[in-house]
Amino acid sequence: MSVVTSVSPQAPDDVVAEVPAATTADVAGAARAARAAQREWWRATAPTRAAALAAAAAALRARADEAAALVVREVGKPRVEAVGEVARAVAILDYYAQAAYAPLGATMPPSLPGLLYTERRPHGVAGLVTPWNFPLAIPLWKAAPALAAGNAVLLKPSPDATASALWLADLLADVLPAGLFRVLPGGAEAGAAVLAAADVVSFTGSVAVGRSVVVGAAERGLPVQAEMGGQNAAVVLADADPAVAAGQIASAAMGFAGQKCTATRRVVVVGSDRRAADVVEALVVAVRALEPGDPAHAGVLVGPVIARHARDKVVAATDAATRSGGRVLHGGTAVERDGWFVTPTLLDGLAADHPVARDETFGPLAVVQRAPDVAQAVALAEGVDFGLVTSVHGRDLGQILEVVRGVGTGMVKVNAPTTGVDFWAPFGGERDSSYGQREQGLAALDFYASTRTVTLSPHP
Ligand code: NAD
Repeated sequence: MSVVTSVSPQAPDDVVAEVPAATTADVAGAARAARAAQREWWRATAPTRAAALAAAAAALRARADEAAALVVREVGKPRVEAVGEVARAVAILDYYAQAAYAPLGATMPPSLPGLLYTERRPHGVAGLVTPWNFPLAIPLWKAAPALAAGNAVLLKPSPDATASALWLADLLADVLPAGLFRVLPGGAEAGAAVLAAADVVSFTGSVAVGRSVVVGAAERGLPVQAEMGGQNAAVVLADADPAVAAGQIASAAMGFAGQKCTATRRVVVVGSDRRAADVVEALVVAVRALEPGDPAHAGVLVGPVIARHARDKVVAATDAATRSGGRVLHGGTAVERDGWFVTPTLLDGLAADHPVARDETFGPLAVVQRAPDVAQAVALAEGVDFGLVTSVHGRDLGQILEVVRGVGTGMVKVNAPTTGVDFWAPFGGERDSSYGQREQGLAALDFYASTRTVTLSPHP
């Protein structure tokens, strides 16, 4: 029997969960129960579905402190961010509770006497495979719209977020019909079994796994979306206040030890060498202020990375950068203490096509790049295979719009950090960052349903 273990990254001897992995038979049984529950759920009225989701929001709100403490312990998320994630998870449930009342379609002029209309219908069972970095918010921003649209849910969480997912399953078991939402812990095998049992597939995680999930779903003719990585640029225009831009960029790059798909990975500084020196100096000051510490302590913004391999990857990327003539402006070393801590790392002087500049290091690491003008800044920002989010910092509206129009990312933020998600707006990227329809907002209701066209005519 294979076992899933999740340990606390700040105290790896602290085992947060140790449970048997779901077997293929477990998944098949859960899928049968989910299918039966889904039929009843869809037959029920919109107010019934809305009330159940609102009850889920209330239940989570009532146990918000417990949820935040578990997120801090299981994935090392700084307390302030864990509290924010739980608040967002509550709001997501409230939002999709109301979305259960959203119009199902439209009426069109009929060609016969009667009605011509469309209606959204659920796919059936949604198979969700999620990463560890938002252990409550990501499962819920998939599950809540799936449920609101009338589906059942099978969730395969990351092994590193097993305890949080099982906690969520317990919470929802009290407010949702039996079998409608099931968590199936495990690794790749359990993930593959969940996807094989699903009628619609939503994945968030790395590019390599996301691609294989998309191919597998396409082979079965299933609707699929995959949210994957990012190598996001922040463009600092020549008229941006260096300290203000540096403060936003440093927290977007290093907050939660850089473990967000939307984290800033590259800082493209526009202007003369002298201007670049000012911005870089402000960045170093801002990054230095973010020394890692115990994520449970108030005021700490950078905790550990998720595992030893993640810490070693940051150190190895720094070594690879210096071997190629890059400079370490700050950090790059493991912190000698219990847990997987590494100092926030700012690198400079790398060629734009260096692997450390092009590939995602999922940790607190960012690279400074220089561009003499806006056109070259756009070219640099666009010089990677990812396309999730870009931020632009500055005042000149013409230059800001040149960047907004020039970049091909799914999201652009002006004078705001690359991180931070408004769950009521569509979320997603281009190229290697995303595949399929957008997540979140009302876009998610469309993904978890198909549209049927009905022609209704009286008997002649
Ligand atoms: P991962 O790809 O290793 O794992 C994601 C999930 O897939 C886990 O539940 C894992 O167990 C499962 N899995 C692994 N192999 C599988 C297989 N063969 N079949 C089915 N399931 C399988 O990713 P991770 O390390 O958990 O998360 C980090 C990555 O997630 C980063 O690349 C990050 O950028 C990305 N991410 C993206 C977003 C976004 O919305 N774009 C959000 C958060 C994280």
